[in-house]
Amino acid sequence: MRSKTQRAGVGRHHKTTTSQTAKGRIALVTVAAGAASTAGVGGAAAAQMQANADHETKAQSVDYDLTTDSNELAENGAAAVETAAPQILAIAESKPVDNLSEQLNKAIEAADARIAADAASRAPSIVKPAEGAYTSGFGARWGAMHNGIDLANAIGTPIVAAMDGIVIDSGPASGFGNWIRIKHEDGSIAVYGHMETLDVAVGDQVHAGQKIAGMGSRGFSTGSHLHFEIHPDGNTPVDPIPWFAERGINIS
Ligand SMILES: [Zn+2]
Repeated sequence: MRSKTQRAGVGRHHKTTTSQTAKGRIALVTVAAGAASTAGVGGAAAAQMQANADHETKAQSVDYDLTTDSNELAENGAAAVETAAPQILAIAESKPVDNLSEQLNKAIEAADARIAADAASRAPSIVKPAEGAYTSGFGARWGAMHNGIDLANAIGTPIVAAMDGIVIDSGPASGFGNWIRIKHEDGSIAVYGHMETLDVAVGDQVHAGQKIAGMGSRGFSTGSHLHFEIHPDGNTPVDPIPWFAERGINIS
């Protein structure tokens, strides 16, 4: 009980001391920057900002140097600091910090842009949705319309998103067994059918080449294959072969 109280007392005392030290340091920085811009640098705005920035850097990195500088400056230019203090304080407090944060923001923006451009240049915008034999094309088949293409391969063969987009359906669907529908940024919709396994859920954001399912033979199907449709306007299917070819992908 007694030692507990002592510990608490020590902790509180230590905290208070740190806080007071920090306050003292801030006050000294203000005096140092004010003295430099009044006595030392005169009217050159760029040089003044540099001087302020120098003091700022010292304040952040080396406490001992700052304290020494501040004392010297305060002694040498005490009169100047006193008379000009109200004006100089505003400059010392705002200018270097604004400038530094602006520069930092610009640097961060540039880095973000570079990273985004880098990722965009590496990531393919469109890919073949599965490896497999092109076994059936778009058009009339068996007295009915076949709205897509079939790519046959073993059950479990990875099926990937052809383009970036949002999953708008993932689950059972009549005829398809399972289906996945993905809406792309350009408004087009891709349909994937007959999958054995589903790796994505409605609302998922997917990227071109990302695995979304495992191939299967569910629904109206005579063997394991991917049925793929593309609806460029979101409603009307077109032949995926020329659609892929226009985008540099050769299916057959
Ligand atoms: Zn099909």
